[in-house]
Amino acid sequence: QQYVFDFSQGSKDEKDLLGGKGANLAEMTKLGLPVPPGFTITTAACRHYLETGTEPESLAAEVGAHLAALQENIGKRLGDPEDPLLVSVRSGAKFSMPGMMETVLNVGLTDISVIGLAARSGDERFAWDSYRRLIQMFGRTVLGIDGESFDERLEARKKIRDVDADVDLDASDLKVLVEEYKDIVLVESGREFPQDPRQQLDLAIRAVFDSWNTERARIYRRQERIPDDLGTAVNVCAMVFGNLGPDSGTGVAFTRDPATGAQGVYGDYLPNAQGEDVVAGIRNTLSLADLERLDAASYRQLLGIMETLERHYLDLCDIEFTIERGKLWMLQTRVGKRTAAAAFRIAAQLVDEGLIDEDEALSRVSGAQLAQLMFPQFDASAPRELVATGMGASPGAAVGKVAFDSATAVAWADAGEDVILVRRETNPDDLRGMVASRGVLTSRGGKTSHAAVVARGMGRTCVVGVDALRVDHGQRSFSTPDGTRVVEGHVISIDGSTGEVFLGAVPVVPSAVVDALHGNGESEAHDDDVVGAVLRLMNHADQRRRLGVRANADTPEDARRARQLGAAGIGLCRTEHMFLGPRRKIVERLILARTAEQRHAALEELRPLQRTDFSEILEAMDGLPVTIRLLDPPLHEFLPDLTDLAVRVAVGEATGKPDAEAAELLAEVQRLDETNPMLGMRGVRLGLVIPELFALQVRAIAEAAAELRGQGRDPRPEIMVPLVAAVQELEAVREMAERTVADVARAEGVELSIPIGTMIELPRAAMTAHQIAEAAEFFSFGTNDLTQTTWGFSRDDVEATFFPAYLEKGIFGVSPFESIDAEGVGRLVSIAAWEGKEQRPDLKIGVCGEHGGDPESIHFFESILLDYVSCSPFRVPVARLEAGRARA
Ligand code: PEP
Ligand code: MG
Repeated sequence: QQYVFDFSQGSKDEKDLLGGKGANLAEMTKLGLPVPPGFTITTAACRHYLETGTEPESLAAEVGAHLAALQENIGKRLGDPEDPLLVSVRSGAKFSMPGMMETVLNVGLTDISVIGLAARSGDERFAWDSYRRLIQMFGRTVLGIDGESFDERLEARKKIRDVDADVDLDASDLKVLVEEYKDIVLVESGREFPQDPRQQLDLAIRAVFDSWNTERARIYRRQERIPDDLGTAVNVCAMVFGNLGPDSGTGVAFTRDPATGAQGVYGDYLPNAQGEDVVAGIRNTLSLADLERLDAASYRQLLGIMETLERHYLDLCDIEFTIERGKLWMLQTRVGKRTAAAAFRIAAQLVDEGLIDEDEALSRVSGAQLAQLMFPQFDASAPRELVATGMGASPGAAVGKVAFDSATAVAWADAGEDVILVRRETNPDDLRGMVASRGVLTSRGGKTSHAAVVARGMGRTCVVGVDALRVDHGQRSFSTPDGTRVVEGHVISIDGSTGEVFLGAVPVVPSAVVDALHGNGESEAHDDDVVGAVLRLMNHADQRRRLGVRANADTPEDARRARQLGAAGIGLCRTEHMFLGPRRKIVERLILARTAEQRHAALEELRPLQRTDFSEILEAMDGLPVTIRLLDPPLHEFLPDLTDLAVRVAVGEATGKPDAEAAELLAEVQRLDETNPMLGMRGVRLGLVIPELFALQVRAIAEAAAELRGQGRDPRPEIMVPLVAAVQELEAVREMAERTVADVARAEGVELSIPIGTMIELPRAAMTAHQIAEAAEFFSFGTNDLTQTTWGFSRDDVEATFFPAYLEKGIFGVSPFESIDAEGVGRLVSIAAWEGKEQRPDLKIGVCGEHGGDPESIHFFESILLDYVSCSPFRVPVARLEAGRARA
């Protein structure tokens, strides 16, 4: 097995073996771009080392052979006293893990070769600066010495010389520093800084292997869902120097603006500096336009290379480059990360430029990015004071007063204030505070922390892991990196997409994308802006997709909004809210009725109300299907609270005024009380025990449809029965429903055909789908309940209790309530869909659980050829886009 490849031997498609950086260096070499020569040690070598604790036996010899070839190529030798070759040793895994692993530069300098370098370069200061950087990086990375020991010496030196900047130290200072640094190495590690360059190289390679498993790298991988067993490649590359004087420098550049997607190159340049200086923000950088002024030839060459790279990668590239005495070198490139807005704009631009087709453009954007663009955002033109950036864990733009505990958050929210709950990390006790707050901010934790998981579940804006903020719960304040103290009650603004934290209130504006998707402002020209790009790609997605997209809506307003956002009907109209509020009293009377008259009176009171409910929604969705689900929730939700009643009765007895009505009610409520109501008297079970309830709903639906028909409209209701486990349940309801619809049709003198179908949300229903399909004209998978009952955990509790631990331990990567568990729950869906269609080929099959709006799940539902997904109105555009992406 070959463990080392020259840059001229690989290609961009070998990221598994060569890592991202190595594969792209090879690709650039192949393209004939000016890449300094070098070689890549494969991830396989790293895995071998991580598994066994030693390098593969053949590695040393292979490195030796490639090093010899490199020396031959350049005409310099590592450690040569006259004219030494120096190399950089850089990590580079398959997936970019920025700043998480190690790099050692200037490998090959020794007490002797530094003198040769000084002579050859004609720059003594440069040579000694390079040497002290090597000892520092080597000491930290390879020998594990605390970096502060070195920094202290550097600062002390500057004080002695009374200068501010590193560059103001001269060669004699740096020589002193080198001696001091070598002492640190000896004292801290118990060994001399190695004077054998090959030994430096081997130790640096090993240190890069080891850096795969540092704590920060592990945490990063867990958050980004990068497998732990990939290992990193190591790139050994001839050093080129940006710090050889004013005609040298180093920079980073993007072929388009990764923040806005604007066309045109974009980047930073730092003259007379070495690689890490740009990123470290030590000095203020110049723009690329300044480079044109300083070195027009290199600038033009750089632009040419950027164009070559874009045309080759067919995408936005970011690059790192160095200019050594007027000669341009490419040190790295990759397809660049970008914001959601830039992703849409760039995809559309690339189509216009003829570089990619529209299908490819769809693959360059995602539903998650679209969702980000649909949230209200901070007004881009408003001034703002950024104080720290963490991880965006749940999108949105939230403004509010800082509160440091749940009780305060709840109290202020009750008083009508907007609150941001700030905690070091959250735990289940913070739940009430999170519910009451506009947003949640934590200084610790990642995207799978308790705060992140719970906030996403609740749709609260959330920023986590802002470790630059010192949260002091005792003092009820936090401090920012620049020392500002923010005390409880101060206002801050947080952006749940970007992770940014601002002082004060930043104005929030509604999303222009939502406005445009609603069809408002259509006449405005949106050529090259984000809105225009979104509309174009949505249009293409709609042409591409096979899956229908409906909405879950149970009010006329939601129905109208969903329709504007492109919903092709309602896939789930929940009817429970129609029985709550003031109407709960009527339902209570119905359930507790003693006589047929009492019961009839309650029903007659509800019927006109229900009829209006339905006719309004059917009207909003005129001409499109509206799946109305018969009543689903557990009975106890309509009954008075058991504890309250018990107190009333007890108080009555204690005060000698017994409350007979309360006592009677209490007895009844106690009789109906359930330990596990979600597995109890709900759905079709309730409908069969109190058949008048379902009958009332069916009658109201039929009457609403008949009435609208009479007005010349086109109502298309569908009746859906929840929580069916056995076909017999469905048959019983079906028989009643058909009779009722026929009654209404006869009485009103219209023809009514209302399809009757069922939810599939219990494992038994899925496993007997062929039987159930005999009695159902459609199936709609209730994947919320199906997930709950298949896994056997309660959807109302888990996210706040053991899910964070499960995510942390990697038992699943994402909550199965968020993305469908394809292997388990998804398999049930797939079997049931298949058997249902076998029984009844024209069976319509959809999904109405939360998964209907989740990008990953939508791809799964497309793969098993369901007919439609149904999701909340706001997710409808996301679902349309993803359904198109799944077919492009
Ligand atoms: C479901 O269970 O997936 C569903 C849509 O119904 P509900 O969430 O109302 O139980
Ligand atoms: Mg359900």
